[in-house]
Amino acid sequence: MKLLYEGKAKQLFECENKDEIYVHYKNSATAFNGEKKEEFDFKGSFNNNITSLIFEYLEREGVETHFIKKINETDQLCKHVKIIPLEVIVRNIVAGSMAKKYGLEEGTKLIKPVFELSYKNDELNDPLINDDHAVALGIVTEEELNIIKKQALIINNLLQKLYLKSNLILVDFKIEFGKTKSGKVILADEISPDTCRLWDVNTNEKLDKDRFRRDLGSVMEAYEEVLRRLKNAKS
Ligand code: UDP
Repeated sequence: MKLLYEGKAKQLFECENKDEIYVHYKNSATAFNGEKKEEFDFKGSFNNNITSLIFEYLEREGVETHFIKKINETDQLCKHVKIIPLEVIVRNIVAGSMAKKYGLEEGTKLIKPVFELSYKNDELNDPLINDDHAVALGIVTEEELNIIKKQALIINNLLQKLYLKSNLILVDFKIEFGKTKSGKVILADEISPDTCRLWDVNTNEKLDKDRFRRDLGSVMEAYEEVLRRLKNAKS
């Protein structure tokens, strides 16, 4: 298969049907714009299984996504979309860059979810932008942005519900949207412990990529635990 694109965590291959794409989840973990890098056995498998389970759940709940089906432990078949270069972030609890930027204590509950946008550009270090920037720079139309915002908040509610059943608190997460050939904006990319902050509901223990970013150890044990809990919650 022809490799179309290689990112930090995934490879995208061309399919015979040009409306589809074959996604391979790699074992690489990166942080701080690729400055910190490590290979972890089974990471690709955990993230593929977690993303597949979550996208199947979102589809069942009426959210249209690029996901078609899981093919094997590390690969999935998806609709071929053009990724909109925005990192769409939703926060329920203060953590990470928000804590740092505003001098807030990590763990502070927000009165309402915060919707944030970053311009996806590694060279510029994904700068934070506002709604006007996104439209004025031609990244999205006003209408597309409204769809993204509405979908992001619906997805936040659905994910919070699913994770809570798994005894996990959804602190914050990043999603990406893509455009189909017909111009429809749908959820794409992945939803995994790489892209969500997940804390144990009883102990506040971190079960996400912060274990890698902050050298807390037991990184894959945490990803495996998230998958185990999600599977249990489903059954
Ligand atoms: N995030 C991500 N990819 C990025 C930046 C952030 O998946 O390139 C996720 C991150 O895992 C967290 C949320 O988005 O769940 C908010 O991240 P934050 O802005 O706090 O940045 P960080 O502290 O990760 O630099």
